[in-house]
Amino acid sequence: MAHSHDIPTDLTRNQELVLGTLTASMGPLSAYDILDKLRSDGLRAPLQVYRALDKLVDRGLAHRLESLNAFVACADMHCHRKGLIAFAICESCGKVDEFADEVIEERLGTWARNDGFKVERTTMEIRGRCADCLKKAA
Ligand SMILES: [Zn+2]
Ligand SMILES: [Zn+2]
Repeated sequence: MAHSHDIPTDLTRNQELVLGTLTASMGPLSAYDILDKLRSDGLRAPLQVYRALDKLVDRGLAHRLESLNAFVACADMHCHRKGLIAFAICESCGKVDEFADEVIEERLGTWARNDGFKVERTTMEIRGRCADCLKKAA
């Protein structure tokens, strides 16, 4: 398992609640899943969750999985210093593994330089079955 971030001390209460929910979750959560879990903590409006998520994503503490329209807590404390974030999404159990790969990043960097393209961020989503699920199916 990758190490997790030390939770920064300058988060708002909502940001802290949302990050805590994501960190405790085994799989990715939609903004509405998060809102459901935080109702007892006094969160009522989707906007409160979206605002907190925006900030957490900005700071690299959480990531948005475009294909699932869901969020995960960052699993790699160094990832936001890199240009590439990759996720392996298991379609059986929903587990998401975050990793970074310098070789892929370098290749994409070379392509971008050759093409004159300025990369703002790169998110890769790989779908399939995780090792645990493959073992169970075997
Ligand atoms: Zn990350
Ligand atoms: Zn799985």
